[in-house]
Amino acid sequence: MPHDATNDLIRPAKHDAAALRDPRTIFPAPPFEKQSQPWPGLARDMTPKPDHGEDSYRGSGRLLGRKALITGGDSGMGRAAAIAFAREGADVAINYLPDEEPDAREVVALIEGSGRTAVAIPGDLRDEAFCGRLVEQAVEQLGGLDILVSNAARQQTAESILDITTESFDATMKTNIYAPFWLIKAAIPHLQPGSAIIATTSEQATVPSPELYDYAQTKAATTSFVRSLAQQLAGRGIRVNGVAPGPIWTPLQVSGGATMEKLEQFGGQTPLGRPGQPGELAGIYVLLAESGGSYATGQVYGAMGGNGLP
Ligand code: NAD
Ligand code: MG
Repeated sequence: MPHDATNDLIRPAKHDAAALRDPRTIFPAPPFEKQSQPWPGLARDMTPKPDHGEDSYRGSGRLLGRKALITGGDSGMGRAAAIAFAREGADVAINYLPDEEPDAREVVALIEGSGRTAVAIPGDLRDEAFCGRLVEQAVEQLGGLDILVSNAARQQTAESILDITTESFDATMKTNIYAPFWLIKAAIPHLQPGSAIIATTSEQATVPSPELYDYAQTKAATTSFVRSLAQQLAGRGIRVNGVAPGPIWTPLQVSGGATMEKLEQFGGQTPLGRPGQPGELAGIYVLLAESGGSYATGQVYGAMGGNGLP
């Protein structure tokens, strides 16, 4: 049955965003159950299940009729953005790896449940030709494109630089640096003035962890391109902004080779004492996509539980 957005506005949600809620206690805190998955992992196999706003995000037409492509849209921040965008009235295409089909099916159902068009385009972003095809297919199946969320990324922890193979380093660079470059180049000819590009960067861009030598530098690159490209694309009326999460409970973390001890305590060192849930960042993606955010470009918005700098 299609999701009734009007009904949604008046029905109290499970986690009512309007209610006064204590940010320290509304979501799970460590210790977490020991768990690990092979890369890229599935949200549906995590304990506890991440909260992407499935039961809480309520839209109010802020993106009515917009057309969005979100990479890594099957899980984590990408799924949270996909749900929020659809409930705000956008049609949404998601990209993900073929192994993530079970998570992607859930997202397609959630988008369609909001009464919007969902387009699922699996494929590996490390391939330049695929990045071009992804944009073309999204444009064709959505009937245009005006929001690009470059959100997919690869993260594998390594205690020492000596443990990072050239192959692994290359996979991280291809996913996190080359793919956004290829996607943005392919998307620009389709983006009308008023369109928005949003890149997911990280607190790692400014406060890198020793065990994320390769990943952290890709996030510094992302933060940097947000700032340079925003100036370049302002002349076309296209805004470019970044979102910088702190530790968020997503498959990237449980399939990224972190030690069980670290995962058990994940997010516990932040001032709020817990990891964030992907749904807690959904509103930031909406703000940066909608025309209400029309004067924001070249900015990086943080949500880090009190950690670091965006
Ligand atoms: P996630 O695992 O849910 O999302 C990452 C997604 O990247 C995967 O779902 C997968 O679809 C996609 N991906 C990876 N390699 C790919 C490839 N070669 N081709 C196509 N898709 C590929 O985890 P997440 O934490 O939501 O990650 C989303 C973004 O958030 C990433 O950019 C990540 O760097 C960033 N981030 C995450 C955290 C965190 O603590 N979880 C913190 C800071 C930044
Ligand atoms: Mg995933």
